[in-house]
Amino acid sequence: MAKPTYNKVKLKQFEEELLQEREETMKVIRDINAMQRRGVKDSGGDLSSYSTHQADQGTDSDTLEKEVFLLESMQEKLRNVNLALNRIYEGKFGICEMCHTEIEEARLKVVPYANMCIDCKTEEENKRNKKR
Ligand SMILES: [Zn+2]
Repeated sequence: MAKPTYNKVKLKQFEEELLQEREETMKVIRDINAMQRRGVKDSGGDLSSYSTHQADQGTDSDTLEKEVFLLESMQEKLRNVNLALNRIYEGKFGICEMCHTEIEEARLKVVPYANMCIDCKTEEENKRNKKR
């Protein structure tokens, strides 16, 4: 396994970035949850009319779908951020989980919670796209 060359100063920077990212992501998740709770409350008890008029409510369900998608991607991001923080504390930060080579610093600056190098990530995304 490659030895990480990211020094303590850089790790500290990434840690701070990740902690900030975690705060922001948790805030977005809280906002979406609050929004969805409000949405459920507004339509409360009126489920029969909802199902009959579902076709007319295309915009609403589109919004809901987007919220669910955003919520899921935010939750995934939060997981990744937490994992990246763990990697910092375990001294494994910046190492690709697939091929164990070092992740380019330029990539980590854009995505500090990246757990794979760009090659492995591209490969994984190609696999994912094929499944669809
Ligand atoms: Zn890799």
